[in-house]
Amino acid sequence: MNYFIDVVLPIPLERLFTYSVLDDQAQQLTPGMRVAVPFGKTRIYTALVMRIHSEPPQAYEAKPIHQLLDEVPLVGETQLAHWKWIASYYMCTLGEVFRTAVPGALLLESETVVILNIDFNKESSQLKEEEEMVLMALENRGALSVRDISNLLEKKTVLPILNELVRLKAILLKEELVEQYKPKMLRYVRLSKLYQDEAALEQLLESMKRAPKQIQTILALFQLQSARKPVLLKSLQQESRVSPGVIRALLDKEILEEFSLRKDRISFDQKGSVKESVKLNSDQITALKTLKEGHKEGKVVLLHGVTSSGKTELYAKLIEEYLKKGEQVLYLLPEIALTAQLIQRLQLYFGKMISVYHSRYNVQERVEVWYNVMGRKSKAQLIIGARSSLFLPYHQLGLIIVDEEHESSFKQYDPAPRYHARDAAIVLAKMHDARVVLGSATPSIESFNNVQIGKYAYAGLTRRYGNVLMPEIELVDLKLLRRKKRLKGHFSDRLIELIHDSLEVNEQVILFQNRRGFAPIVECTSCGHSPGCPNCDVSLTFHRHRNQLRCHYCGHHAELQPACLACGNNTLDTKGFGTQQVEEEAKVLFPEAEIARMDFDTTRGKHSHARIIQKFEDQETDILIGTQMLTKGLDFRHVNLVGIMNADTLLNFPDFRAHEKSFQMLTQVAGRAGRTEKRGKVIIQTYNPYHQILHQVSSNDYLTMYSEQLYEREQYHYPPLNRIIRITFKHKEYNKLNEAAEWFTEALRLKYGTWILGPEYPPIPRIRNQYLKHVLVKIPRKISAAKMKNSIKRTEQSFNAISQYKGVRVIYDVDHL
Ligand code: ADP
Ligand code: ZN
Repeated sequence: MNYFIDVVLPIPLERLFTYSVLDDQAQQLTPGMRVAVPFGKTRIYTALVMRIHSEPPQAYEAKPIHQLLDEVPLVGETQLAHWKWIASYYMCTLGEVFRTAVPGALLLESETVVILNIDFNKESSQLKEEEEMVLMALENRGALSVRDISNLLEKKTVLPILNELVRLKAILLKEELVEQYKPKMLRYVRLSKLYQDEAALEQLLESMKRAPKQIQTILALFQLQSARKPVLLKSLQQESRVSPGVIRALLDKEILEEFSLRKDRISFDQKGSVKESVKLNSDQITALKTLKEGHKEGKVVLLHGVTSSGKTELYAKLIEEYLKKGEQVLYLLPEIALTAQLIQRLQLYFGKMISVYHSRYNVQERVEVWYNVMGRKSKAQLIIGARSSLFLPYHQLGLIIVDEEHESSFKQYDPAPRYHARDAAIVLAKMHDARVVLGSATPSIESFNNVQIGKYAYAGLTRRYGNVLMPEIELVDLKLLRRKKRLKGHFSDRLIELIHDSLEVNEQVILFQNRRGFAPIVECTSCGHSPGCPNCDVSLTFHRHRNQLRCHYCGHHAELQPACLACGNNTLDTKGFGTQQVEEEAKVLFPEAEIARMDFDTTRGKHSHARIIQKFEDQETDILIGTQMLTKGLDFRHVNLVGIMNADTLLNFPDFRAHEKSFQMLTQVAGRAGRTEKRGKVIIQTYNPYHQILHQVSSNDYLTMYSEQLYEREQYHYPPLNRIIRITFKHKEYNKLNEAAEWFTEALRLKYGTWILGPEYPPIPRIRNQYLKHVLVKIPRKISAAKMKNSIKRTEQSFNAISQYKGVRVIYDVDHL
């Protein structure tokens, strides 16, 4: 008997490929196992077995596989079913889902480049001869592709050797150069050696007579030192009750000196002892009960709780019940909300049962979590992760929590599969017969609508925990103040006054500006010219610290020239403003304050985000300036003032969701203020103080926002009333792209008339030298979306058969956000 297998390759081709296998291989193989296969003339791929059979392919001679890579399936049946749903719903190939779902280190192919892991200790591991050879070659040559290694060992079948070396953490994939873990350092202070003897000290205190705050600080230090332990800088700040400026002055004068000691990462004692979860208050108990009733009816439950109402504590209670039953729990968060702070909080309750999984983790960590989940290890019973953790090999998934469910970053934008993790999670839960909770202080219009039509159940928390008042929100009219000359840079006099008040009483301030960089655009005030990107038709952004103009789409950059390139005058001016400019102005306005900035530019490293937050939490920072990164689930106790520098950039964004998003973002930022007894204060600076969204934010009126937005969506046939698919056409030739997009759109329009919009150029019509055109398909709810997708796919097949449109890429984004 001749045996064959159908496999999926991690590439964007629609079909499966058939290879031949030997009898004993066929006996060992089951669907979900990996095999190494040849492809084309010289390539090697890791492929996934879908089916084993004895029907030779008609069109070609099946090649034999190189070898088996697994003894047990890497991917289970339910997982495969879920992948198929994603491929079909999001109009992509199974191969694309395969590539996204499985960690790169499990998908080695001929072009993968590997390097030596310098932390690997060869002596302590017993390596086989060929493994040794690979490591020695890497020591000599630095990096090698899988193909190189295959040539070196003179055999095709090298993937098992490399898989083993990855597992031993002896090698790393080059594409994921890992930022090394940096131990966390804590800052301490002590009196300088110069003043250790009594006479010198006496003299010092004498000389400080006219600086009572400095004396107060020194005395506080003595107080703290009596405990005979090093004194933390932040403890001194709290104990002495002076502003950070006073301590800094003492450090500058070398009366105090600073030193650092290392603190190890969140560590548990050997028993992994954990804290009891809190007692829920009556609101939380009621919400939890309602939530469970929804689950009993088999429904997804939307937990709508205002910021700081205790949603996280409620999740913890629920998670506890599922873990006790021995079931796995997935806690999904948007990448930026996945903070050390939240993980630490959950670790307190669930300690060693937690594994964290997201893209900033290196390949080894991800492979480890994969196998732990697969092996139902207790240390991977609660998975906290970003959207890709949806793809782990769960067995007994009991509960999925989607926290901050309104976040648009749950949608993968590029590459395919362009899936929405919340929606794909709901489908996954159904396949596992698991329950789902969607949580948010500002639910998406989609999810709230699903409650309204009875599809989802609802549980609410309307008060903050401990009856802390919602912050008081004040709108500041920038137009008026500008006329009256009561603005300093981008700060209104009202905001300046309140910041001074906060600093005075040692409270912290958050300033929000949803734009990074110094000033987005440089414009010549003589001729109006503004330097643009040569590849993208978009204005370049000015980055002050490097004196650089950068393109935020393709990374093109150039030095800022003093004179305008068009007219030659020295009259370049910066327009608009970003976080960096707010920071510089703040430094001038509040020289005594310690100021930090958190945005994409300052948080690139794996731990930099956590460091900025830690310093703020430790009250080493007085004013934190940032983009929307600040809005995510952080719990800062000493923040009582939040300033929104300019609400208009949010409101005026050209997108039908702009108002919904503004409401969500502003409410979330405002939610950072006043989480303790004192009522928080929020200042929103705007040129449109009468905007309805700003009033809905001020009065925390979600329902009015929802009904107004839903009405607008009805009027213009947008989701949730219609489904949308965005089709992008892409090619480097302008004319070819236009004709191709026109042909495709007309073909669709013949069938679907007014449901087809476009083709239109996007705001940035050229990216990386490729022209783009978009078509928007609106599908009424009563029409079967699946049928319509099939029909679009058929149109694509006819389109692909037209030779003059060859090379034009067609990209689908289902439920485009
Ligand atoms: P949310 O997730 O809704 O923003 P949190 O769960 O973070 O709210 O709760 C806000 C604060 O109140 C946290 O510091 C939390 O520890 C505290 N808290 C919430 N519920 C309780 C409770 N039942 N007992 C004690 N503290 C609670
Ligand atoms: Zn560019």
